[in-house]
Amino acid sequence: MRIALLSDIHANLIALEAVLARLGPVDAIWVTGDTVGYGPDPSDVLALLRERGALLVQGNHDLAVATGAGLEWFNEHAAAAAELHRGWLSAEERDALGALRRVVAREGFTLCHGSLRDPLWEYVTTSGAARASLEQADTPHGCVGHTHIPAVFASEDGRMSIVRPSDGDIVRLDGRCLVNAGSVGQPRDGDPRASYAVLDTAAGTVTFYRASYRVDETQRRIRARGLPAVLADRLTYGL
Ligand code: ZN
Repeated sequence: MRIALLSDIHANLIALEAVLARLGPVDAIWVTGDTVGYGPDPSDVLALLRERGALLVQGNHDLAVATGAGLEWFNEHAAAAAELHRGWLSAEERDALGALRRVVAREGFTLCHGSLRDPLWEYVTTSGAARASLEQADTPHGCVGHTHIPAVFASEDGRMSIVRPSDGDIVRLDGRCLVNAGSVGQPRDGDPRASYAVLDTAAGTVTFYRASYRVDETQRRIRARGLPAVLADRLTYGL
């Protein structure tokens, strides 16, 4: 199976459309959380993913937009965006976000947003956190998001390595791996292009990609919808 792995789309429709256009045919689309929050187009992003039959797990922003839970942990700009999204979405859309599962296992991968220790909130940035997460998985591999930085944490013979992939890099899924596809809608590794990955379960590989998109159009929409301007500005730098 060829599976598109997307994460942290954050209501950035223009970025999502660019990724889907570049993706080519896939057998499934998996999204490891934070489909909404921060960006200008939460309803349109949810509708497009539904149309494409994507599998979504719940992120901390998804829950905050759905129910208001956890807003006290957000910085002021994230909280302001989540409150606006709560008002823009229909009750049906909020309920769907609130009902998303936090951990899902498919095809040998366990998906969640943060970590398997704390599916909504933990940032997996170290080999220790990655190992602890993999220890709680019943599958060989895992997929997480939340950091907005693409990475593969690979555990083999008790040793853990961290790969920081660039556009076009193919990483073999040897041993046990935790894969982070980076962020479609708000990358934070200094590269403003949308980040995503494609899993090939037959080949046992994950390939990382960056897709250029019209950042200025997303920025225009963020400002036009009254979201905090800093959420537009940061997209220029991918930070
Ligand atoms: Zn996020």
